[in-house]
Amino acid sequence: MASVTFNNVAKRYGNVTAVHDLNLEVADKEFLVFVGPSGCGKTTSLRMLAGLEEVTEGKILIGDRDVTDIAPKDRDIAMVFQSYALYPHMSVYDNLAFSLRLRAKTGRVRKLITLVFNRPAYQKIRDQEADIDQRVHKAAQTLLIEQLLPRKPKQLSGGQRQRVAVGRAIVREPKVFLFDEPLSNLDAKLRVQTRAEITKLHQQLGTTFIYVTHDQVEAMTMGTRIAVMKDGALQQVDSPQNLYDRPANQFVAGFIGSPSMNFFDVLLKGTRDNVIVEGDSFQLNIPAERTKGLDQYLGQTVSMGVRPEDLHDANFIPPNVHTGTLDAQVDVTELMGNEVYLYLLTGKSSYVARVDPRTKARVGNKVQMAANLDNLHFFSKSNEKAIR
Ligand code: ATP
Repeated sequence: MASVTFNNVAKRYGNVTAVHDLNLEVADKEFLVFVGPSGCGKTTSLRMLAGLEEVTEGKILIGDRDVTDIAPKDRDIAMVFQSYALYPHMSVYDNLAFSLRLRAKTGRVRKLITLVFNRPAYQKIRDQEADIDQRVHKAAQTLLIEQLLPRKPKQLSGGQRQRVAVGRAIVREPKVFLFDEPLSNLDAKLRVQTRAEITKLHQQLGTTFIYVTHDQVEAMTMGTRIAVMKDGALQQVDSPQNLYDRPANQFVAGFIGSPSMNFFDVLLKGTRDNVIVEGDSFQLNIPAERTKGLDQYLGQTVSMGVRPEDLHDANFIPPNVHTGTLDAQVDVTELMGNEVYLYLLTGKSSYVARVDPRTKARVGNKVQMAANLDNLHFFSKSNEKAIR
Protein backbone atom coordinates (compact mmCIF):
# COMPACT_ATOMS: atom_id res chain seq x y z
CA MET A 1 0.00 0.00 0.00
CA ALA A 2 1.29 3.48 -0.79
CA SER A 3 0.65 7.12 -1.32
CA VAL A 4 1.36 8.82 -4.67
CA THR A 5 2.83 12.30 -5.08
CA PHE A 6 3.11 14.44 -8.20
CA ASN A 7 5.66 17.22 -7.57
CA ASN A 8 5.61 20.02 -10.15
CA VAL A 9 5.12 17.47 -12.92
CA ALA A 10 4.93 18.69 -16.51
CA LYS A 11 4.74 16.85 -19.81
CA ARG A 12 5.47 18.42 -23.17
CA TYR A 13 5.32 16.89 -26.63
CA GLY A 14 7.26 19.36 -28.79
CA ASN A 15 5.39 22.59 -28.30
CA VAL A 16 2.21 20.89 -26.97
CA THR A 17 2.00 21.01 -23.17
CA ALA A 18 -0.16 18.04 -22.18
CA VAL A 19 0.25 18.57 -18.41
CA HIS A 20 1.28 21.80 -16.65
CA ASP A 21 2.94 21.90 -13.26
CA LEU A 22 0.86 19.17 -11.60
CA ASN A 23 1.04 19.09 -7.80
CA LEU A 24 -1.08 16.43 -6.16
CA GLU A 25 -0.88 14.07 -3.22
CA VAL A 26 -2.95 10.91 -3.23
CA ALA A 27 -3.14 9.33 0.22
CA ASP A 28 -2.57 5.65 0.89
CA LYS A 29 -5.78 3.65 0.26
CA GLU A 30 -7.48 6.62 -1.36
CA PHE A 31 -9.68 6.30 -4.48
CA LEU A 32 -8.72 9.33 -6.55
CA VAL A 33 -10.43 10.03 -9.87
CA PHE A 34 -8.94 12.25 -12.57
CA VAL A 35 -11.78 13.73 -14.58
CA GLY A 36 -12.00 16.27 -17.38
CA PRO A 37 -12.94 16.69 -21.02
CA SER A 38 -11.07 15.00 -23.85
CA GLY A 39 -7.49 16.22 -24.20
CA CYS A 40 -7.24 17.72 -20.69
CA GLY A 41 -4.17 15.61 -19.79
CA LYS A 42 -5.67 13.02 -17.45
CA THR A 43 -4.42 9.95 -19.36
CA THR A 44 -0.97 11.50 -19.75
CA SER A 45 -0.83 12.05 -15.96
CA LEU A 46 -1.73 8.41 -15.32
CA ARG A 47 0.71 7.13 -17.93
CA MET A 48 3.53 9.17 -16.39
CA LEU A 49 2.73 7.55 -13.03
CA ALA A 50 2.76 4.13 -14.69
CA GLY A 51 6.11 4.90 -16.32
CA LEU A 52 4.67 4.63 -19.84
CA GLU A 53 5.45 8.30 -20.58
CA GLU A 54 8.61 10.13 -19.63
CA VAL A 55 8.22 13.10 -17.30
CA THR A 56 9.49 16.35 -18.87
CA GLU A 57 9.79 18.18 -15.54
CA GLY A 58 9.18 17.37 -11.87
CA LYS A 59 9.09 14.20 -9.80
CA ILE A 60 6.68 11.37 -9.10
CA LEU A 61 6.84 9.46 -5.82
CA ILE A 62 5.16 6.21 -4.78
CA GLY A 63 5.32 6.15 -1.00
CA ASP A 64 8.69 7.79 -0.22
CA ARG A 65 10.34 6.34 -3.31
CA ASP A 66 11.15 8.59 -6.26
CA VAL A 67 9.99 6.53 -9.28
CA THR A 68 10.41 9.25 -11.92
CA ASP A 69 13.15 7.34 -13.75
CA ILE A 70 12.25 3.79 -12.71
CA ALA A 71 11.07 1.21 -15.26
CA PRO A 72 7.30 0.50 -15.24
CA LYS A 73 7.76 -3.11 -14.12
CA ASP A 74 9.67 -2.00 -11.02
CA ARG A 75 7.08 0.54 -9.83
CA ASP A 76 4.78 -1.94 -8.07
CA ILE A 77 1.68 -0.74 -9.88
CA ALA A 78 -0.88 -2.50 -12.07
CA MET A 79 -2.94 -0.83 -14.77
CA VAL A 80 -6.31 -1.69 -16.29
CA PHE A 81 -6.88 -0.21 -19.73
CA GLN A 82 -9.99 0.69 -21.73
CA SER A 83 -9.13 -2.05 -24.24
CA TYR A 84 -8.84 -5.14 -22.08
CA ALA A 85 -5.71 -6.31 -23.92
CA LEU A 86 -6.24 -9.99 -23.04
CA TYR A 87 -4.19 -12.64 -24.83
CA PRO A 88 -6.77 -14.23 -27.17
CA HIS A 89 -5.05 -17.62 -27.44
CA MET A 90 -4.78 -18.10 -23.66
CA SER A 91 -7.48 -19.26 -21.24
CA VAL A 92 -8.72 -16.87 -18.56
CA TYR A 93 -6.59 -18.82 -16.06
CA ASP A 94 -3.45 -18.34 -18.17
CA ASN A 95 -4.26 -14.67 -18.76
CA LEU A 96 -4.43 -14.18 -15.00
CA ALA A 97 -1.30 -16.20 -14.33
CA PHE A 98 0.76 -14.76 -17.19
CA SER A 99 2.49 -11.82 -15.49
CA LEU A 100 3.19 -13.88 -12.36
CA ARG A 101 4.75 -16.71 -14.40
CA LEU A 102 6.83 -14.19 -16.31
CA ARG A 103 8.13 -12.74 -13.06
CA ALA A 104 8.77 -16.13 -11.46
CA LYS A 105 10.27 -17.55 -14.67
CA THR A 106 8.33 -20.79 -14.37
CA GLY A 107 8.24 -21.52 -18.12
CA ARG A 108 7.97 -25.14 -19.34
CA VAL A 109 11.51 -25.35 -20.75
CA ARG A 110 13.04 -24.07 -17.54
CA LYS A 111 10.94 -26.49 -15.55
CA LEU A 112 12.12 -29.40 -17.66
CA ILE A 113 15.78 -28.41 -17.41
CA THR A 114 15.65 -27.98 -13.65
CA LEU A 115 13.75 -31.26 -13.27
CA VAL A 116 16.67 -33.08 -14.92
CA PHE A 117 19.63 -31.08 -13.62
CA ASN A 118 18.64 -29.21 -10.50
CA ARG A 119 16.11 -30.88 -8.22
CA PRO A 120 16.07 -28.19 -5.46
CA ALA A 121 15.38 -25.46 -8.05
CA TYR A 122 12.59 -27.62 -9.47
CA GLN A 123 10.96 -27.80 -6.05
CA LYS A 124 11.15 -23.99 -5.81
CA ILE A 125 9.37 -23.64 -9.15
CA ARG A 126 6.68 -26.05 -7.93
CA ASP A 127 6.18 -23.88 -4.83
CA GLN A 128 5.98 -20.73 -6.96
CA GLU A 129 3.42 -22.39 -9.20
CA ALA A 130 1.32 -23.34 -6.18
CA ASP A 131 1.47 -19.71 -5.04
CA ILE A 132 0.45 -18.48 -8.51
CA ASP A 133 -2.44 -20.95 -8.57
CA GLN A 134 -3.62 -19.71 -5.19
CA ARG A 135 -3.45 -16.06 -6.27
CA VAL A 136 -5.32 -16.77 -9.52
CA HIS A 137 -8.12 -18.56 -7.66
CA LYS A 138 -8.31 -15.86 -5.00
CA ALA A 139 -8.62 -13.11 -7.65
CA ALA A 140 -11.19 -15.17 -9.57
CA GLN A 141 -13.21 -15.65 -6.38
CA THR A 142 -13.11 -11.92 -5.59
CA LEU A 143 -14.37 -11.10 -9.07
CA LEU A 144 -16.84 -14.02 -9.25
CA ILE A 145 -15.21 -15.42 -12.42
CA GLU A 146 -14.03 -18.82 -11.14
CA GLN A 147 -16.33 -20.67 -13.53
CA LEU A 148 -14.77 -18.75 -16.45
CA LEU A 149 -11.16 -19.82 -15.79
CA PRO A 150 -11.01 -22.48 -18.57
CA ARG A 151 -12.56 -20.23 -21.23
CA LYS A 152 -10.83 -18.18 -23.92
CA PRO A 153 -11.49 -14.42 -24.08
CA LYS A 154 -13.63 -14.76 -27.23
CA GLN A 155 -16.05 -16.93 -25.22
CA LEU A 156 -16.69 -14.07 -22.75
CA SER A 157 -19.05 -11.10 -22.74
CA GLY A 158 -17.62 -7.55 -22.62
CA GLY A 159 -18.32 -7.30 -18.89
CA GLN A 160 -16.63 -10.63 -18.19
CA ARG A 161 -13.55 -9.63 -20.21
CA GLN A 162 -13.40 -6.44 -18.22
CA ARG A 163 -13.37 -8.46 -14.99
CA VAL A 164 -10.55 -10.64 -16.27
CA ALA A 165 -8.60 -7.46 -17.07
CA VAL A 166 -9.15 -6.29 -13.47
CA GLY A 167 -8.20 -9.79 -12.27
CA ARG A 168 -4.87 -9.55 -14.05
CA ALA A 169 -4.15 -6.43 -12.03
CA ILE A 170 -5.31 -7.98 -8.74
CA VAL A 171 -3.11 -11.09 -8.93
CA ARG A 172 -0.04 -8.90 -8.92
CA GLU A 173 -1.00 -7.46 -5.54
CA PRO A 174 0.38 -4.04 -6.48
CA LYS A 175 0.77 -1.04 -4.19
CA VAL A 176 -1.29 1.12 -6.54
CA PHE A 177 -4.02 0.26 -9.07
CA LEU A 178 -4.38 2.48 -12.12
CA PHE A 179 -7.52 2.46 -14.26
CA ASP A 180 -7.72 4.24 -17.62
CA GLU A 181 -11.39 4.58 -18.65
CA PRO A 182 -11.99 0.87 -17.94
CA LEU A 183 -15.76 1.01 -18.44
CA SER A 184 -15.87 2.82 -21.79
CA ASN A 185 -16.57 -0.34 -23.80
CA LEU A 186 -19.51 -1.48 -21.66
CA ASP A 187 -23.18 -0.71 -22.25
CA ALA A 188 -24.96 1.74 -19.93
CA LYS A 189 -26.45 -0.85 -17.57
CA LEU A 190 -23.24 -2.82 -17.22
CA ARG A 191 -21.29 0.37 -16.60
CA VAL A 192 -23.46 1.17 -13.59
CA GLN A 193 -23.09 -2.38 -12.26
CA THR A 194 -19.32 -2.55 -12.82
CA ARG A 195 -18.89 0.92 -11.30
CA ALA A 196 -20.35 -0.40 -8.06
CA GLU A 197 -18.18 -3.52 -8.26
CA ILE A 198 -14.98 -1.48 -8.62
CA THR A 199 -15.98 0.65 -5.61
CA LYS A 200 -16.57 -2.54 -3.61
CA LEU A 201 -13.25 -3.94 -4.78
CA HIS A 202 -11.50 -0.83 -3.52
CA GLN A 203 -13.05 -1.32 -0.09
CA GLN A 204 -12.16 -5.02 -0.11
CA LEU A 205 -8.54 -4.63 -1.21
CA GLY A 206 -7.81 -1.48 0.81
CA THR A 207 -5.27 -0.33 -1.81
CA THR A 208 -4.69 3.03 -3.48
CA PHE A 209 -6.81 3.37 -6.65
CA ILE A 210 -6.23 6.05 -9.29
CA TYR A 211 -8.88 6.16 -11.96
CA VAL A 212 -9.22 8.23 -15.15
CA THR A 213 -12.57 9.04 -16.74
CA HIS A 214 -14.22 11.78 -18.79
CA ASP A 215 -17.57 10.89 -17.19
CA GLN A 216 -18.39 13.10 -14.24
CA VAL A 217 -21.08 10.71 -12.97
CA GLU A 218 -18.46 7.95 -12.76
CA ALA A 219 -16.13 10.34 -10.94
CA MET A 220 -18.80 11.51 -8.49
CA THR A 221 -19.98 8.00 -7.63
CA MET A 222 -16.60 6.30 -7.28
CA GLY A 223 -13.98 8.75 -6.06
CA THR A 224 -13.23 9.54 -2.44
CA ARG A 225 -11.61 12.61 -4.02
CA ILE A 226 -11.79 13.96 -7.54
CA ALA A 227 -9.11 15.90 -9.42
CA VAL A 228 -10.72 18.01 -12.15
CA MET A 229 -8.44 18.91 -15.07
CA LYS A 230 -8.76 21.28 -18.00
CA ASP A 231 -6.20 22.09 -20.71
CA GLY A 232 -3.46 20.21 -18.84
CA ALA A 233 -4.00 22.13 -15.60
CA LEU A 234 -5.49 20.88 -12.35
CA GLN A 235 -8.56 22.99 -11.52
CA GLN A 236 -9.65 21.62 -8.14
CA VAL A 237 -9.15 18.52 -6.00
CA ASP A 238 -11.82 17.77 -3.43
CA SER A 239 -14.46 15.34 -2.22
CA PRO A 240 -17.39 14.83 -4.63
CA GLN A 241 -19.78 16.74 -2.35
CA ASN A 242 -17.45 19.72 -1.92
CA LEU A 243 -16.84 19.93 -5.66
CA TYR A 244 -20.58 20.00 -6.18
CA ASP A 245 -21.39 22.46 -3.41
CA ARG A 246 -18.32 24.70 -3.58
CA PRO A 247 -16.80 24.63 -7.07
CA ALA A 248 -13.62 26.72 -7.20
CA ASN A 249 -14.35 28.14 -10.61
CA GLN A 250 -16.91 28.30 -13.38
CA PHE A 251 -15.39 25.40 -15.32
CA VAL A 252 -15.69 22.99 -12.37
CA ALA A 253 -19.20 24.30 -11.62
CA GLY A 254 -20.30 23.58 -15.19
CA PHE A 255 -18.48 20.25 -15.53
CA ILE A 256 -19.73 18.59 -12.34
CA GLY A 257 -23.49 17.94 -12.25
CA SER A 258 -26.02 16.74 -14.79
CA PRO A 259 -27.79 18.61 -16.28
CA SER A 260 -25.08 21.25 -15.93
CA MET A 261 -25.29 24.35 -13.79
CA ASN A 262 -27.02 27.29 -15.54
CA PHE A 263 -25.11 30.56 -15.89
CA PHE A 264 -26.56 34.07 -16.19
CA ASP A 265 -24.70 37.35 -16.70
CA VAL A 266 -25.94 39.62 -13.92
CA LEU A 267 -25.19 43.11 -12.60
CA LEU A 268 -24.67 43.40 -8.84
CA LYS A 269 -26.40 46.46 -7.35
CA GLY A 270 -27.49 47.80 -3.97
CA THR A 271 -25.38 47.90 -0.84
CA ARG A 272 -23.13 45.59 1.14
CA ASP A 273 -26.03 44.19 3.21
CA ASN A 274 -28.67 44.41 0.53
CA VAL A 275 -27.25 43.06 -2.71
CA ILE A 276 -29.57 43.03 -5.70
CA VAL A 277 -28.84 40.78 -8.65
CA GLU A 278 -30.10 42.24 -11.90
CA GLY A 279 -30.44 39.91 -14.89
CA ASP A 280 -31.67 40.98 -18.32
CA SER A 281 -35.31 40.50 -17.26
CA PHE A 282 -35.30 39.51 -13.61
CA GLN A 283 -34.18 40.85 -10.27
CA LEU A 284 -33.29 38.87 -7.11
CA ASN A 285 -32.64 40.17 -3.60
CA ILE A 286 -29.84 38.21 -1.98
CA PRO A 287 -30.45 37.34 1.71
CA ALA A 288 -28.10 39.40 3.95
CA GLU A 289 -26.26 36.29 5.20
CA ARG A 290 -25.40 35.27 1.60
CA THR A 291 -23.80 38.50 0.40
CA LYS A 292 -20.26 37.78 1.64
CA GLY A 293 -17.68 38.62 -1.02
CA LEU A 294 -20.29 40.07 -3.38
CA ASP A 295 -19.85 43.63 -2.04
CA GLN A 296 -16.44 43.76 -3.76
CA TYR A 297 -18.24 43.44 -7.08
CA LEU A 298 -21.04 45.99 -6.63
CA GLY A 299 -21.59 47.85 -9.90
CA GLN A 300 -19.95 45.04 -11.90
CA THR A 301 -21.25 42.25 -14.10
CA VAL A 302 -20.55 38.76 -12.79
CA SER A 303 -21.67 35.27 -13.76
CA MET A 304 -24.41 33.77 -11.59
CA GLY A 305 -24.69 29.97 -11.44
CA VAL A 306 -27.88 28.12 -10.50
CA ARG A 307 -28.13 24.33 -10.45
CA PRO A 308 -31.23 22.93 -12.24
CA GLU A 309 -32.57 21.46 -8.96
CA ASP A 310 -32.42 24.92 -7.37
CA LEU A 311 -35.01 26.23 -9.84
CA HIS A 312 -38.54 25.28 -8.83
CA ASP A 313 -41.93 25.68 -10.42
CA ALA A 314 -43.27 28.54 -8.25
CA ASN A 315 -46.42 26.46 -7.55
CA PHE A 316 -44.37 23.64 -6.00
CA ILE A 317 -41.68 25.19 -3.83
CA PRO A 318 -40.33 22.79 -1.18
CA PRO A 319 -40.75 23.93 2.44
CA ASN A 320 -38.17 26.23 4.10
CA VAL A 321 -36.54 27.36 0.85
CA HIS A 322 -35.88 31.11 0.34
CA THR A 323 -36.66 31.93 -3.25
CA GLY A 324 -36.74 34.80 -5.72
CA THR A 325 -38.85 34.61 -8.87
CA LEU A 326 -38.11 34.70 -12.59
CA ASP A 327 -40.69 34.83 -15.39
CA ALA A 328 -39.91 32.27 -18.03
CA GLN A 329 -41.23 30.73 -21.20
CA VAL A 330 -41.17 26.95 -21.58
CA ASP A 331 -39.20 25.87 -24.63
CA VAL A 332 -39.01 22.08 -24.16
CA THR A 333 -40.19 19.65 -21.48
CA GLU A 334 -38.71 16.24 -20.70
CA LEU A 335 -40.63 13.86 -18.45
CA MET A 336 -38.27 11.80 -16.31
CA GLY A 337 -40.91 10.06 -14.18
CA ASN A 338 -39.82 11.29 -10.76
CA GLU A 339 -39.23 14.84 -12.05
CA VAL A 340 -39.61 17.01 -15.14
CA TYR A 341 -36.81 18.87 -16.91
CA LEU A 342 -38.02 22.25 -18.16
CA TYR A 343 -35.89 24.01 -20.77
CA LEU A 344 -36.71 27.67 -20.25
CA LEU A 345 -36.14 31.09 -21.77
CA THR A 346 -35.92 34.30 -19.72
CA GLY A 347 -34.77 37.39 -21.63
CA LYS A 348 -31.67 36.27 -23.56
CA SER A 349 -30.93 33.37 -21.20
CA SER A 350 -31.81 29.74 -21.88
CA TYR A 351 -31.55 27.37 -18.95
CA VAL A 352 -32.79 24.10 -17.43
CA ALA A 353 -34.84 23.40 -14.31
CA ARG A 354 -35.55 20.06 -12.63
CA VAL A 355 -39.01 20.49 -11.21
CA ASP A 356 -41.75 18.65 -9.34
CA PRO A 357 -43.56 16.17 -11.66
CA ARG A 358 -46.91 17.79 -10.71
CA THR A 359 -45.93 20.88 -12.72
CA LYS A 360 -48.57 22.11 -15.17
CA ALA A 361 -45.92 23.79 -17.37
CA ARG A 362 -46.25 22.88 -21.05
CA VAL A 363 -44.28 23.92 -24.14
CA GLY A 364 -45.02 27.55 -25.04
CA ASN A 365 -46.51 28.39 -21.57
CA LYS A 366 -45.40 31.39 -19.56
CA VAL A 367 -44.43 30.16 -16.09
CA GLN A 368 -43.07 31.61 -12.91
CA MET A 369 -39.90 29.96 -11.64
CA ALA A 370 -38.47 30.25 -8.13
CA ALA A 371 -34.68 30.23 -7.66
CA ASN A 372 -33.29 28.99 -4.34
CA LEU A 373 -31.44 32.09 -3.09
CA ASP A 374 -29.40 30.09 -0.57
CA ASN A 375 -27.68 28.04 -3.28
CA LEU A 376 -26.67 30.67 -5.84
CA HIS A 377 -23.06 30.64 -7.06
CA PHE A 378 -21.18 33.69 -8.36
CA PHE A 379 -18.06 33.81 -10.53
CA SER A 380 -15.80 36.65 -11.57
CA LYS A 381 -16.06 37.51 -15.27
CA SER A 382 -12.33 38.27 -15.46
CA ASN A 383 -10.84 35.03 -14.06
CA GLU A 384 -13.92 32.79 -13.65
CA LYS A 385 -13.02 32.11 -10.00
CA ALA A 386 -15.79 31.60 -7.44
CA ILE A 387 -16.67 34.71 -5.43
CA ARG A 388 -16.95 33.75 -1.79
P1 ATP B 1 -8.96 11.62 -23.71
O1 ATP B 1 -10.08 11.52 -22.72
O2 ATP B 1 -9.43 12.05 -25.06
O3 ATP B 1 -8.06 10.42 -23.73
P2 ATP B 1 -7.04 13.02 -22.02
O4 ATP B 1 -7.55 14.02 -21.07
O5 ATP B 1 -6.71 11.70 -21.47
O6 ATP B 1 -8.05 12.87 -23.24
P3 ATP B 1 -4.34 13.12 -22.95
O7 ATP B 1 -4.39 11.86 -23.74
O8 ATP B 1 -3.64 13.10 -21.66
O9 ATP B 1 -5.81 13.69 -22.73
O10 ATP B 1 -3.70 14.25 -23.88
C1 ATP B 1 -3.44 15.56 -23.42
C2 ATP B 1 -2.92 16.40 -24.57
O11 ATP B 1 -1.65 15.91 -25.00
C3 ATP B 1 -3.81 16.40 -25.79
O12 ATP B 1 -3.84 17.71 -26.31
C4 ATP B 1 -3.13 15.45 -26.73
O13 ATP B 1 -3.38 15.79 -28.07
C5 ATP B 1 -1.68 15.65 -26.38
N1 ATP B 1 -0.88 14.43 -26.62
C6 ATP B 1 -1.05 13.23 -26.01
N2 ATP B 1 -0.15 12.33 -26.46
C7 ATP B 1 0.60 12.96 -27.39
C8 ATP B 1 1.71 12.59 -28.21
N3 ATP B 1 2.24 11.37 -28.16
N4 ATP B 1 2.22 13.55 -29.04
C9 ATP B 1 1.72 14.79 -29.07
N5 ATP B 1 0.68 15.22 -28.31
C10 ATP B 1 0.13 14.32 -27.49
